[in-house]
Amino acid sequence: MTDFPGVFTHPAGELSNGAVLDIGLKCPHSCAFCYYSFLDGGTDQFAGLRKASLRSTADCLEIVRLLAENGLTHLDITGGEPTTHPGLADIVRAASGLGLGVRVITLGQFLLRKHAGGTLLEALLGAGLTDLLFSLHAANPDSFRAICGGSLENVLAALDRLDERGFQYGSNTVITEKNLLQLPDIARLAAGRGVYTANFIAFNAYHAWRGQDQAKLLQTSYAAIRPRLEEAVGILAAANAAVNIRYVPLCAFPKLARHVVGVLGVPYDPYEWRNRCLNHDREPAYCAEPLPIPASGVRDIFAFTPLDETLQGGTRVCGMRGDRFKFFPAQCADCPAKSACDGVDPTYLARYGADEFQPLDRPTQGPLLAARLAYLPPHLVKMRPEADMRGAIGHGANGRDAALAARD
Ligand code: SF4
Ligand code: SF4
Repeated sequence: MTDFPGVFTHPAGELSNGAVLDIGLKCPHSCAFCYYSFLDGGTDQFAGLRKASLRSTADCLEIVRLLAENGLTHLDITGGEPTTHPGLADIVRAASGLGLGVRVITLGQFLLRKHAGGTLLEALLGAGLTDLLFSLHAANPDSFRAICGGSLENVLAALDRLDERGFQYGSNTVITEKNLLQLPDIARLAAGRGVYTANFIAFNAYHAWRGQDQAKLLQTSYAAIRPRLEEAVGILAAANAAVNIRYVPLCAFPKLARHVVGVLGVPYDPYEWRNRCLNHDREPAYCAEPLPIPASGVRDIFAFTPLDETLQGGTRVCGMRGDRFKFFPAQCADCPAKSACDGVDPTYLARYGADEFQPLDRPTQGPLLAARLAYLPPHLVKMRPEADMRGAIGHGANGRDAALAARD
């Protein structure tokens, strides 16, 4: 712990002790970019989510117990939409009782609904909830509704309640063509509220999106994102919030490289998950087991394989990660950061080509940039509801951060 009660400093470069409880994919929302779109193999984007099931409360409690037994220290509860699970408050209470930090990931639509004589939010806070991670995909109500079918007013009303209590929380923003221009406004909204950690997630055509024409309408170019994201990160950093950028090549935003966490870096990100998710049909012991990470830090499914071929679309590549999961354009061959880089998404290469990618002359340590390891704000973990995360970031992390940045 730090001088700030309830703030744990995760040793940079060590494996995460974070976990996930996946309560099932049932979801009433309609996020345009949802990775579980077309879940049932049909053409109705959200039909599968509506029909999906929720795990039983008994199963969820057993997974929580096993996560603690396996030495994991904090967990995210995700779905689907976890606030629709009838046992959520009991699950939070059980996790908190075992000493686990417990965070709920939500679109924030149902937190002020009536629940057991109060609101669901009050019930969760009373059960010991440590943290919330809100989906903040737009900065104005019309865009929010257009992107995910939800009400920004509902989210803001819940944030009001949390801000009154001094309860700090995080935000997730999936970057698509639909909210690209709003990134600085989203950052201003988060900075003006109690957000202490903000995740910007570039849309990738994973899962059922691969090969879908609709993916092309969502995926925006890194060149277009870059100036808006640089502005957004500046706004959040000034508010003492940590910022993470997910699943892009390390040179996509050269000035923001320390904020980037790809699939290679995920096991070392303290808020990321070491156990298996998306196994609703498997027994609790399987779901709660931490995945082994080899000494190299790179799981076999993401191993680098040299290649010499030209992809459909004309990009010449010198290597790939996994089984054609990501590719390395020819100019990556001598890149000093290659061992820490995911490479480039094939759908992205087919649409935008590879001209913007340039070798990044930054030192690496295992599958991470040294600059990421020296960036302390994302290594501070909220373990208690009242923890002053922004205070901790402003007190220690930004000062050291600035000194290290000056040396870069
Ligand atoms: S809340 Fe999550 S599961 Fe539901 S539609 Fe949105 S992204 Fe998909
Ligand atoms: S040049 Fe290639 S290997 Fe280097 S950071 Fe960019 S995409 Fe990654």
